[in-house]
Amino acid sequence: MSIATNEFLGATDEHIVVCDNLVKIYKVAELEVVALQGLDLLVERGEVMAIVGSSGSGKSTLLNILGGLDRPSAGKVIVDGQDLLKLNDFTLNKYRRNRVGFVWQQTARNLIPYLTAIENIELPQMIAGKLAKERRRWAEELLEVVELSERKEHRLEQMSGGEQQRVAIAVSLANHPSLLLADEPTGEVDTVTASTIFSAFRNLNERYGLTIMIVTHDPGIAGQVDRVVAIRDGRTSTETVRQVDSGAAGDDGEEGAGHGGVFAAYKEYVVLDSTGRLQLPREYLEQLGIHDRAQLELVEGGILVKPAAGRLAPVAAGNGEGDLDLDLSLEAGREADTLQRVRRGLTGLFKGRRTGGGRGAR
Ligand code: ADP
Ligand code: MG
Repeated sequence: MSIATNEFLGATDEHIVVCDNLVKIYKVAELEVVALQGLDLLVERGEVMAIVGSSGSGKSTLLNILGGLDRPSAGKVIVDGQDLLKLNDFTLNKYRRNRVGFVWQQTARNLIPYLTAIENIELPQMIAGKLAKERRRWAEELLEVVELSERKEHRLEQMSGGEQQRVAIAVSLANHPSLLLADEPTGEVDTVTASTIFSAFRNLNERYGLTIMIVTHDPGIAGQVDRVVAIRDGRTSTETVRQVDSGAAGDDGEEGAGHGGVFAAYKEYVVLDSTGRLQLPREYLEQLGIHDRAQLELVEGGILVKPAAGRLAPVAAGNGEGDLDLDLSLEAGREADTLQRVRRGLTGLFKGRRTGGGRGAR
């Protein structure tokens, strides 16, 4: 099935993952939890990308939906040309076995303890009806790519956490999926071990052009992937894209580091959804004292977001005489402090004139 007809978000056949306004609501007893609230995401074929975000932001929910382990409540999700909302249970099961590979944080969930590394990789192939010779050949190749050929006859307890996780990655690829999903694969290992796991991901990407999506808390992730997408409250909020230039540095002085003549730079972007909404960083809003509304101004080459004018002094409602017409637009943090002082001063000034309990109105 082709997705070329889908024009939303600029999605094309080049995109292996297309999420459009994806919603997932969990119902627990009488309570509804909105885990994804209109998430948009495009992932290109052959991309290695990471998903970051605080606990409860919806990362695992997204991965489970992409892996066919859970169904969305609304929206659109297309993976490798398959519209996951349209698959019945039988075809979703087939999708899960053949189109996607899944790696979890707990290695025990990925592997069968009484089988050797190579047997673990052969098992899913056996279930899929592959011939013994072909199973073994592919299992050996995968062990070589994750750099564990010498561990092939070892069982779970004879391997370190990092080695188990790399076997798990090989197992997830047993049936030749086009997308690998990893939910905090380095969550239980140290930094050195984590780098061997990331290196296995990169080898697989380079060798097979495999698309890989990694959910992680690892702060060093940006250096390991092409793109980092941050999720906040069930939506994509920002993304950091790696740009490699040989020779000249980036065009507007962004951060970067040289590696043997190749200049890798990272740029952070705010993500706009299909209706033009974006999330502003909370720390910026706090710094400028922006709460429930802001002013937008079109300036040369950009859009300026400023605190709403005249909304700062908590003057008692309905007391016309107390209203102040002040333009307290701010553009810098230092001025925000001044503003806090001005605001406190004004509050004191108007205290005696208040007719109602206007304090703390915001
Ligand atoms: P993350 O992986 O980013 O920590 P999750 O996707 O696991 O976040 O969870 C997102 C939200 O959905 C959280 O509020 C979580 O409590 C809720 N949630 C996740 N799974 C379930 C479930 N099976 N039943 C009810 N609520 C859930
Ligand atoms: Mg999670």
